[in-house]
Amino acid sequence: MSDAKALLSDLERSPDDDALRTRAARALDDAGEPGRAVALLGERFVNLTAHEGPPLPCLCKRCLKPDSNVAASDGVEFRRDFATRDGRVLYFWVPTELFGARGLRESVVKRMKVSTSRRSLG
Ligand SMILES: [Zn+2]
Repeated sequence: MSDAKALLSDLERSPDDDALRTRAARALDDAGEPGRAVALLGERFVNLTAHEGPPLPCLCKRCLKPDSNVAASDGVEFRRDFATRDGRVLYFWVPTELFGARGLRESVVKRMKVSTSRRSLG
C-alpha cells in the first residue's frame, strides 16, 4: 500500500499525468483496492470496453463492478487487468497465471491505437 500512497500523493501534484495515474491505479489494484483503482481511472479515462456476455463478467462501462477483479470460468481463474491510452481505459480478463506477463499490456495498448485510427477513418 505504501507504493500506492506515494504515487497518489505524486498524482495530487500532477493530476494530468496519465502515465502516473495508470501506475497509481495499478498499485491500488495490486494492494487489494480494485474499487479505488477503477475510481481513479474513471476520473480521467473513458471506459471503452465493449459489452461482452458470459462466461466472464462483462467489463463495459455499464456492467463493470469496480470491486470485483477476479473471476473464474471452466476451472480457470482470471484477474482483471487494464490498459490506458489517450484518455481511454480498456479492461480485460487475463488468466491469473499470465497476469502481468511481459508484453501483454503493451499489445493491448497497440490494439487500442489500431481501433482509434480505424474509427477516425470511418
Ligand atoms: Zn456490459
